[in-house]
Amino acid sequence: MAQNYYQKDVETMSREDMKKLQSEKLVKQVKHVYENVPYYRNLMDEKGVKPEDIKGIDDLHKLPFLTKADLRDAYPYGLLAKPLDECVRIHSTSGTTGRRVVAFYTQNDVDLWEDCCARAIVAAGGSKKDVCQVAYGYGLFTGGAGLHGGSHKVGCLTLPMSSGNTERQIQFMMDLNASIICCTPSYAAYIAETLKEQGYKPEDIPLKAGIFGAEPWTEEMRRGIEEALGIKAYDIYGLTETSGPGVAFECSEQTGMHVNEDHFYAEIIDPDTGEVLPEGSKGELVFTSLDKEAFPLLRYRTRDICVLSREKCSCGRTLVKMAKPMGRTDDMLIIRGVNVFPSQIETVLLNEGYQPNYQIVVDRVKNTDTFEVNVEMTPEKFTDKVGEIIAMEKSLANAMKTMLGINPAVHLVAPKSITRSEGKAVRVIDKRKLV
Ligand code: ADP
Ligand code: ZN
Repeated sequence: MAQNYYQKDVETMSREDMKKLQSEKLVKQVKHVYENVPYYRNLMDEKGVKPEDIKGIDDLHKLPFLTKADLRDAYPYGLLAKPLDECVRIHSTSGTTGRRVVAFYTQNDVDLWEDCCARAIVAAGGSKKDVCQVAYGYGLFTGGAGLHGGSHKVGCLTLPMSSGNTERQIQFMMDLNASIICCTPSYAAYIAETLKEQGYKPEDIPLKAGIFGAEPWTEEMRRGIEEALGIKAYDIYGLTETSGPGVAFECSEQTGMHVNEDHFYAEIIDPDTGEVLPEGSKGELVFTSLDKEAFPLLRYRTRDICVLSREKCSCGRTLVKMAKPMGRTDDMLIIRGVNVFPSQIETVLLNEGYQPNYQIVVDRVKNTDTFEVNVEMTPEKFTDKVGEIIAMEKSLANAMKTMLGINPAVHLVAPKSITRSEGKAVRVIDKRKLV
């Protein structure tokens, strides 16, 4: 298959030239961050590293790590590296109070992010002849804005649908001949199912490709979506802390995602010791922003478990490839695209006068995540009046919705009825088998 690239020079650059480019950018970036971010300067001083010690990418391992805890400590402006009046945009992670991450962008930052998304769209076969339906959520979430910008850069006719309103998605897709769709894989599967219910066959659907990410999904799910929509489905990865989607993207080979490593340098570390692991090892994925200006995170620990590979790719790109994330080093769940930590549920229970005896059950039914929380009643709250139980469940569900941004089905169960385990409590039963 003939290959198209959005930025061929960097996408097919020799290893040697790429390393040189990364090294030059890193030296500049470390200086920028050291001079402009007191929080980061302290971290470097504590570790005894000065900007002069970083002469190239081989010195990266000398720098301290950044974690989500640092982002919380520094919220909201503590890691900002540019004056606010040079920033043009803010995005934030999906709906988690107390864990919210805000990221700032200069116009250059938006530009380079959109370039990354444009590379993903071109790798999926996109060009100015395409109609690109962006069905990721628009707003604080990075998905909509990122792919929207990328679509413009490629010159596609952009349909800024945002997520939801599936009837209208389908109407516009059919009437306006959308050829590429960008959304979460679970929403793609839901759209596919709705199309089928409405009697459309894969060959009736104008789409040729989909760019799906922001949550874990399996190969089986990929094949299912591909068959149902008659398209090729491409994975895309990113996180708010590094920009959003487009940090890595899939090519026609569909065997992992090329990391845009001229902007984001990837390392795999041992999550326990912090030691950098050799290529091909499984470990925690760490990213360094080589040229973002406003919110440049260095050695940011993603908590995603992953493997990197430099095996030659048939698409001609030389950018390092990351496997699909294989899980996380923390207990974060992604439910309907929203990040959920069991500790948040615990906080709500304690606030509402319950004991932290609970179990979260997540499943995927008809391609939509189900989210249930079973909570033990306390002896003080115990009642056998159905009306009272329903009201208590409702009030707990509301409190959880406020904390998490999504609505669980809460079931109150009898005191001591949730099995106690002998070791670590089993707080989460995830039946989705995503990894
Ligand atoms: P986003 O705004 O893109 O959802 P978040 O910062 O809320 O970003 O969440 C980022 C996390 O989402 C990643 O650390 C990873 O765990 C998960 N994620 C993003 N894209 C993918 C993908 N393609 N496959 C699996 N997990 C993904
Ligand atoms: Zn490739």
